[in-house]
Amino acid sequence: MSDQAEASFRQSVDMMFNRAVSLMDLPPGLEEKIRVCNSTYTVRFGVKLRGRMQTFTGYRSVHSEHMEPVKGGIRYAGNVNQDEVEALAALMTYKCALVEAPFGGSKGGLCIDPLEWEEDELERITRRFAYELIKRDLIHPSQNVPAPDMGTGEREMAWIADQFSRMNTTEIDARACVTGKPRHAHGIAGRVEATGRGVQYALQEFFRHPDDIKAANLSGTLDGKKVIVQGLGNVGYHATKFLEEEDGAKIVGIIERNGSIHDPNGLPTERVKQYILENGGVRGFPGAEYNADGAALLEGDCEILIPAAFEGCINLCNADRIQANVIIEAANGPVTAGADEILRKKGCMIIPDMYANAGGVTVSYFEWVKNLSHIRFGRMQRRQEEARHKLLIDEMERMTGTSVSGNFKEQYLKGADELTLVRSGLDDTMRIAYQAMAEVWRSHPKVSDLRTAAYLVSIERVAGAYKALGL
Ligand code: NAD
Repeated sequence: MSDQAEASFRQSVDMMFNRAVSLMDLPPGLEEKIRVCNSTYTVRFGVKLRGRMQTFTGYRSVHSEHMEPVKGGIRYAGNVNQDEVEALAALMTYKCALVEAPFGGSKGGLCIDPLEWEEDELERITRRFAYELIKRDLIHPSQNVPAPDMGTGEREMAWIADQFSRMNTTEIDARACVTGKPRHAHGIAGRVEATGRGVQYALQEFFRHPDDIKAANLSGTLDGKKVIVQGLGNVGYHATKFLEEEDGAKIVGIIERNGSIHDPNGLPTERVKQYILENGGVRGFPGAEYNADGAALLEGDCEILIPAAFEGCINLCNADRIQANVIIEAANGPVTAGADEILRKKGCMIIPDMYANAGGVTVSYFEWVKNLSHIRFGRMQRRQEEARHKLLIDEMERMTGTSVSGNFKEQYLKGADELTLVRSGLDDTMRIAYQAMAEVWRSHPKVSDLRTAAYLVSIERVAGAYKALGL
């Protein structure tokens, strides 16, 4: 353990930003303009529940408006605070720039443990919080577009969208005021899985680069790689499920809020998730070794560690004992600035949060575009595409006098539906963003890690947007 004091989440983000910016040549003052959070609105509101007035505190931070609308999730957790919301808003700015989603950065939070409230109570609280933000344009299709984050999901987004529509009855683009909505309430196919899917695509892209695999002291593919995940919520569940079921990775450890389970032969993600839903935690999952001190498993034997719960879990207290070759930051800010330095020196490869969990905002971008265009992706082209493919296959069969195989024919003839297009757009985004980041990492003499490279790419783009605005 180090004597060094641990930086707060926002300080960590700023320190990482400063490290990158020191390698750049920005005009005087622009560095500070990009780094600081433009504004944070704090609201305290009352809702009469359980026979008395309950007061709640919420935040909406806008980090950068170099592009509008600004974008970022709303988090529900008991320990939400201004420092955290501002750090998360800053990460949104850099994340959107890195994956070329045309948004500024924002984030919101409500100090509430959602597990303590009934569904109808949560709806009243959410609608009231949304009301406070909507009346100040802090939720608006062209100004500020929230999405889910820890403790919120499709249900809360549907309530927020409905609240906005009630307050803006003539706004034709009302449904674009928030993303991550359910499919039947103007959401998009593939949004729920998007962040976890993005983590999978990020790792797939990493494993396409032999030099990068070697730099992490690894070889081969994702197949058979030992994975430990922290948090089997939206992001962690989807990421590990896809890595296990589609890439052959072995999930040897799962850490949840009431402890961890470990099985060197591999844990079935889907069955563990069902077990958690039925039993409230991982304790007692058949055949696995349970440890009430869940966080200890972050230091377990694995090749890939996926922190997918909350910030600061890899810190000065445990960084030197982490064994993973690769940490992919599915959560926002899971590695503190101090731990980042220790891990870099140890040769641990960190795939940074602003890239690794950008799948959510990428598909949110697609949902926003869908809502503004008022038509689902693929609706106009799908059957025409199928007809053209059929024409080609029929002609090939006629010319050769043979039939193409049934399986090929079925796959080839199928026109792309919305889910296929969303996955394709997400995969493309994750590949291109990795390549932009890795290119800087390989070519810049003073950049020795992917995080600094990611910041360089993002800051350059944000600075470019400010310069184009004449600032
Ligand atoms: P979630 O609420 O769906 O899941 C969080 C999970 O972590 C839950 O299963 C919870 O039980 C578990 N958890 C809580 N405390 C824990 C502890 N002490 N130890 C182990 N597990 C614990 O949240 P989420 O949406 O999956 O978000 C997780 C992280 O991913 C957050 O950092 C969030 O900011 C980030 N993120 C989420 C999205 C998204 O689309 N949901 C997008 C980008 C980034």
